[in-house]
Amino acid sequence: MFATVIDPIPQHSLAVDGTDARFPVRRVYCIGRNYAAHTIEMGGDPDREAPFFFQKNPDNLDQSGAFPYPVKSSDVHHELEMLVALKSGGTSITVEDALGHVYGYAVALDMTRRDLQGEAKDARRPWEIGKAFERSAPCGPLIPAERIGHPATGAVSLTVNGDTRQTGDLDQMIWKVPEMIAYLSEYYELAAGDVILSGTPSGVAAVQRGDEMVARVAGLPDLTVRVT
Ligand code: MN
Repeated sequence: MFATVIDPIPQHSLAVDGTDARFPVRRVYCIGRNYAAHTIEMGGDPDREAPFFFQKNPDNLDQSGAFPYPVKSSDVHHELEMLVALKSGGTSITVEDALGHVYGYAVALDMTRRDLQGEAKDARRPWEIGKAFERSAPCGPLIPAERIGHPATGAVSLTVNGDTRQTGDLDQMIWKVPEMIAYLSEYYELAAGDVILSGTPSGVAAVQRGDEMVARVAGLPDLTVRVT
């Protein structure tokens, strides 16, 4: 260990179901428009074109069960997603080898300051101000793939105060998990600790303080998050 000229910065990490050992987070990649119905609702063309990604920050991941309504926005949307956590990485990973790099999965939310994202889009600026803010990625505990395998089909849904807002199926992803890993590895050097948010089905909508969101991905524990 080396001396630090400021206080050492804590390594951000995620809780893993069934163990006190934690998963340290290195990077967070998020795919845009990975379900056709959501692509259409956002004004895009659902024909399969090259995927695109943006990033959140490792410490935007939050397992507290609370989502503090963020500053500087009055239109904050939920996006129901599945989180994929990598135990290893590399470059030029093949689709066939990709799942061998996955440690586990979790239910996650890609919370979005939609008004700020829209302003950025209109100005052809980066999206980070709408996406990568404090506690913008609530998520549940990681579930190891060695226990549940690699979910590729199964219902996903999100309710707010008991009303269903988002529904879909993992098999509706335009770019499947192995394809996302392979594609990212052509542009970045992936590594242990990287996580990928795999996109949202249609039905994204605004939340208000006091709302209770329940996110479900078949085979994973439900994620309940209160907007505070
Ligand atoms: Mn998203």
